[in-house]
Amino acid sequence: MKRTHVHLSDDWAMTLGVLFGEGSVRTVQVHERVWWLWPLPWVAAITGPSRIWLRGRAEDFFADPEFVLHEYCHVLNQWDTHRLSIFRYLREWLRVGYWRNLYEVEARSFAAREVGRCCQLLTEARTRDAGKRSV
Ligand SMILES: [Zn+2]
Repeated sequence: MKRTHVHLSDDWAMTLGVLFGEGSVRTVQVHERVWWLWPLPWVAAITGPSRIWLRGRAEDFFADPEFVLHEYCHVLNQWDTHRLSIFRYLREWLRVGYWRNLYEVEARSFAAREVGRCCQLLTEARTRDAGKRSV
């Protein structure tokens, strides 16, 4: 079976480490082009404990900081703190649907709030890397 687990780049590891805490970020496995998402074209990603499964390529995922923050918020602030479970998500989804689901509202507002800082941290990480290379 083909391995789909993606290596987290240094700039993203550094940035997510600041936003979520150093230790936790590397424990998250990101899988790209997940075959079992093919029949669900409206789903771009699904999360679980320490996992993000992507329908598309990791490259496209990491080119969209708000998308990254949204999914990492589900994993690190919800699944891995045991606030989110399949049962709780479905109960919430049946109660209010997708958009007003409290886990989605939280992930969306987290991403919207942190995206500016995230882009700034990415730029700093990349500048630092470029500096290292030119020395
Ligand atoms: Zn979501």
